[in-house]
Amino acid sequence: MCRTVCEPDGMRLLVVEDDPSIAEPLRTGLERDGFEVNWVSTGADALTAEPADLVLLDLGLPDIDGSAVCRELRERSSVPIIVVTARGDEIDRVSLLELGADDYVVKPFGIRELTARVRAVLRRTQGAAPTEPDRTLVVGDLSIDQRTRKVSRAGTSIDLTPKEFALLAYLAAEPGTVLTREQIIHDVWDEHWWGPTKTLDVHIASLRKKVGAELIETIRGVGFTIPEPPDGR
Ligand code: CA
Repeated sequence: MCRTVCEPDGMRLLVVEDDPSIAEPLRTGLERDGFEVNWVSTGADALTAEPADLVLLDLGLPDIDGSAVCRELRERSSVPIIVVTARGDEIDRVSLLELGADDYVVKPFGIRELTARVRAVLRRTQGAAPTEPDRTLVVGDLSIDQRTRKVSRAGTSIDLTPKEFALLAYLAAEPGTVLTREQIIHDVWDEHWWGPTKTLDVHIASLRKKVGAELIETIRGVGFTIPEPPDGR
């Protein structure tokens, strides 16, 4: 299954999304990450599209209900499906999995979060990992080298535990994006992790002590964000 030695290059994604203001930047971001993107905007087009390596499926489509499209796609093939839901869609994780979806993301989402999910699903379903490109995340005076796992703030290096590092890198990958507690626990811990979410607060607290409390903002009742620095870096 995993052609081209598991690099994302040449992996074909079918994006089913009727809103061009979401689909356009999504396509640009995914293509920049090396994926080939076929974008269709109706359920009917999704069901007649060329076979893909993974499907990103919006649930709110103009013609056919997205969950029916999901079920239909699943009946005919084992292609991995990530469902895109709008906040407030009365659908939960269990129902999505029953439809045959492999994962889901809730709008609004960041492109980094989404490509991480795509890679994770491809890794799970193909038993091999398209590797994350080595890169250094820079947010203001915070620098996170993902290759050496070195973190510094204003030139001063900071020692983090592996979990603190993973949490910080996850938040810093999308400055300005509010990441929900659910998303963080799903992505940084384990998708099957249903323990008390207090663990997240404990890690946030220890991280704040090390990197500076003001760096990570709490969005009450939702989650956390690292705000975009004022100079837009
Ligand atoms: Ca839609």
